[in-house]
Amino acid sequence: MFRIPESIAELGRERIKGYPVEGFVYGEGPQKPELMLIGEAPGEFEAVDGIPFIGRAGKELMKSLDSIGLTREDVYITSTVRSRPYKWGEKRERDGTMTKRKYNRPPTRKEILAHAPVLDYELANIEPKLIVALGNFGLQRLLGKEAKVTELHGQLLEKPVQFLPGLDSTSFEWTDRVYRIVPTFHPAAVFYRPSHRPDLDADWLAIGEMLKRIGDGESGI
Ligand code: URA
Repeated sequence: MFRIPESIAELGRERIKGYPVEGFVYGEGPQKPELMLIGEAPGEFEAVDGIPFIGRAGKELMKSLDSIGLTREDVYITSTVRSRPYKWGEKRERDGTMTKRKYNRPPTRKEILAHAPVLDYELANIEPKLIVALGNFGLQRLLGKEAKVTELHGQLLEKPVQFLPGLDSTSFEWTDRVYRIVPTFHPAAVFYRPSHRPDLDADWLAIGEMLKRIGDGESGI
C-alpha cells in the first residue's frame, strides 16, 4: 500500500484551511496498481471515514471494476481535492420543521490549487498501467479546461499533465513526462443521467481490453 508522506498531507490540510471543506481523505492503493483512478472530491461518507469512494458513487465504481475483473485492492484511488467541499442548506424534516445541513458541492479552482501538490506527488510516485479520469474534474485537473469527458471518454490519450510549479503559483504547467490516460464518466453521472450508462459500461470494457494489451507488453493502443 502506498501512502503519501505525512508532510504532503499536512501541506494539503494547511493550504485548504479557511475554505468550506471538511475531512482529509488519503489516496489508497498499491504503488504499482493496474489503474490510478482520479475523482473529484470526497462526499459526506468519505470525509467521515477517510476512505475514498465508499458512498453511492463508490458502489457504482466497484461494479465497473468488477466488470473487468478488478477490485478496490488492484487500483489506486484518489481525487482532485481531498477534503469534502460543502455548502449549508435547509432540509425539511418529516414533521415539517426545517433543519440546516451540509450539502456536497463541486470544488472551486482555489480548492483545486490548494490540493494540487498532493495529487502532483501521487502522479510523480504512483506507477499505474493506466490513469482513469473519472469525470470532468479529474480530467480537467490533468489536461486543462478544454478537455471534456463527453468528447474524450473511452479513448486512450498519451499526454503530459498539469502540475503546480511552485507553492505560490496560481497556474499550472505541463510535465515533461507523458501519461496514459483514459477519461470516463464520474460513477455518479449515471444517477442524474441514466442515458450515460451504455457509454460508461463500454468505456470500462475498453479499459479492461487496454489493460490486457499492456499486460502483453504492448502499448495499450
Ligand atoms: N466522488 C469522488 O470523487 N470521490 C469520492 O471519494 C466520492 C465521490
